[in-house]
Amino acid sequence: MSDLLKRKAEATPRGVGVMCNFFIDHAKNSEIWDTEGNRYIDFAGGIGVLNTGHLHPKVQAAVAAQLQKFSHSCYQVVPYESYISLAEKINKKAPGNHAKKTAFFSTGAEAVENAIKIAHSATGRPAIIAFGGAFHGRTSLTMALTGKVVPYKVGFGPFPGDIFRIPFPNALHNISVEDSLDSLEKLFKYDVEATRVAAIIVEPVQGEGGFNPAPLEFMRKLRAVCDQHGILLIADEVQAGFARTGKFFAMEHFDVQADLITMAKSLAGGFPLSAVVGRAEIMDAPAPGGLGGTYAGNPLALAAAEAVFDVIEEEQLVARAQNLGDRLQEKLRSLKSAVPQIADVRGLGAMVAVEFMKPGTHEPDAEFAKKVQTVALGKGLLLLTCGSYYNVVRFLFPLTIEDTVFEEALGILEAALKA
Ligand code: PMP
Repeated sequence: MSDLLKRKAEATPRGVGVMCNFFIDHAKNSEIWDTEGNRYIDFAGGIGVLNTGHLHPKVQAAVAAQLQKFSHSCYQVVPYESYISLAEKINKKAPGNHAKKTAFFSTGAEAVENAIKIAHSATGRPAIIAFGGAFHGRTSLTMALTGKVVPYKVGFGPFPGDIFRIPFPNALHNISVEDSLDSLEKLFKYDVEATRVAAIIVEPVQGEGGFNPAPLEFMRKLRAVCDQHGILLIADEVQAGFARTGKFFAMEHFDVQADLITMAKSLAGGFPLSAVVGRAEIMDAPAPGGLGGTYAGNPLALAAAEAVFDVIEEEQLVARAQNLGDRLQEKLRSLKSAVPQIADVRGLGAMVAVEFMKPGTHEPDAEFAKKVQTVALGKGLLLLTCGSYYNVVRFLFPLTIEDTVFEEALGILEAALKA
């Protein structure tokens, strides 16, 4: 064991699980170099945070410039313009022609917590409905919303009450849109009256749950149920956000709108920033002092986010996401006959995943997914797995990745799949 690994084991708890046994020294765009000088292509992007790559020069310059002025005042004490100008940009860009407002926080879980708080405040109702396979964070409330026991919920609790769960549609695992909606009706019959429900929280594309896009018809029906009963629809775009799906916001893929949208990853190029955007009158429900946080809307992160928005536009990353996603899906599909474990290739834009089953069965093959990840890492490509059965490899490369590096990575991926 390296000296650093030994120090890590002694100084930090095992609960903070770590994937790699090497340590980063520096990174640039889609590449990472470790402390031994080895180079890796980064198809993890710090879990979907680096759609504009490691240290994009414009992001770096924006943060450096902000660092010459001030790093913190607490927005709630002495405000700054960048908070307002980014809110204006998000309000304009978020789907829907209605009046919107945006509040900033630091992490994805904090954005979700605040969306739920706002929903309680706006409706005066206690209950929340979430989905099987959902991931919303690691705080007490967001852990309760999360629909995956191992490893997120094991040994923790008690969890906050009044959270109900229904299955998320997944054709590959025999859950139809009708099954899911039927569960919702049964929930209203057996567990909670619809008029006690403040919000339904849904990921437009489930992230940790396996990169499962919500069917169009399903989102429409959820919207209709919400409208019927005065329930708010919250779209958690923390993982799907910011150009990744081939649209700026993932909810742009649907012809119905959420009342509140959470975002975080890739909003600020690696700096901690999250946000909730929503209908102005709903966002204004909590009284002054009800929202915020000491670090919420950090000035360095806001400066980074302004630059991230510019880079997405200037480098046409929305279109690039679609292009890269198409190329990756084509590559994976071309390998289907050579790799019988490939049961499904799917995605929206560059939010692509490949799911593995044991050949000739309908049994999820987590071992194969792990093997692909391990072999790829040995060849210098960082991949992440996901899925309720751990049998999915997901791809979260920077959208700014150079073509040559992307092609090199596809070559490594092919070798890992065939190994
Ligand atoms: N929501 C979704 C959809 C996520 O994917 C994540 C993180 N994987 C979170 C919330 C929580 O974000 P954070 O880890 O920044 O708290």
